[in-house]
Amino acid sequence: MTRGRTPARRPARSRVAPVTVVRHPLVQHKLTLLRDRATGVSEFRTLLRELGMLMVYEACRDLPLGRRRIRTPLAPMDAPVLDGKKLVLVPVLRAGLGLAEGMQALLPAARVAHLGLYRDPRTLTAVEYYFKAPRQMARRHAIVADPMLATGHSAAAALSRIREAGARSVRFVCLVAAPEGLAHVRRRHPGVPIYTAAIDEGLNAHAYIVPGLGDAGDRLFGTR
Ligand code: URA
Repeated sequence: MTRGRTPARRPARSRVAPVTVVRHPLVQHKLTLLRDRATGVSEFRTLLRELGMLMVYEACRDLPLGRRRIRTPLAPMDAPVLDGKKLVLVPVLRAGLGLAEGMQALLPAARVAHLGLYRDPRTLTAVEYYFKAPRQMARRHAIVADPMLATGHSAAAALSRIREAGARSVRFVCLVAAPEGLAHVRRRHPGVPIYTAAIDEGLNAHAYIVPGLGDAGDRLFGTR
C-alpha cells in the first residue's frame, strides 16, 4: 500500500449464504427409496416425513440459543434453549406439506404458514392462490419447505413472500434441486441458506427434475 494514501474502500458485499447438500447416509438411503418408482403412496409419505425430520435437524444447526434457569434433580443450572419466538414452518402446497409434517415432529410447537402456489403451465411462473401466516413474523425464524427445487420460480416467490412478511430469518429446505433452480434462487435471494439432499442433472422439457422422483405432490397424495 502506498504510504499516506487512503486505501480504496471495497464495495460492501452482501453475505452470500451457502447451499448445504446433506450427505448423511440415512438421508441418502431414504432419498433413494423415495425416488424409486416402485415406492407406493404409503411408503412415500413415511419417507418424506422422515426426511423432513432429518433435514430440519440440519437446517436448525445455527439457530441462536438463549439460556433458561432450570433445576435438575441435583442442582440449578442455566441451560440452553432455542432463543425467541416459536419458529414458523412454511410448507409450499402441496408437496411441502409432507416434508413439513416431519419437521413438526421435531418442532412440535412451531407455527405453520401455508403458502399455495401453482405453476402457470405456459410461463412456468409461480402464481399465489393462498397465504396464511401466524402473527409476529418479525420475531420468528422461518423454514420454507418444498421437496423439489425445479425452475426455482416457486421457491423464489415463496422466499419473497416470507421475507415481505418480515420473518426474522429465512431458510429453504428441499430434497432434490436442479442446478437451474438453485442458480435462480441464489440470484434472487443470495442471503437465504439452502439445504438439499441432492443436486440432480437438470430439467426436462416439462420442467421436471431428471432423474428426480417425478411429481412429488402426486406421489404424496396418490393423485396420479
Ligand atoms: N415438481 C415436482 O414435483 N417434481 C419435479 O420434478 C419438478 C417440480
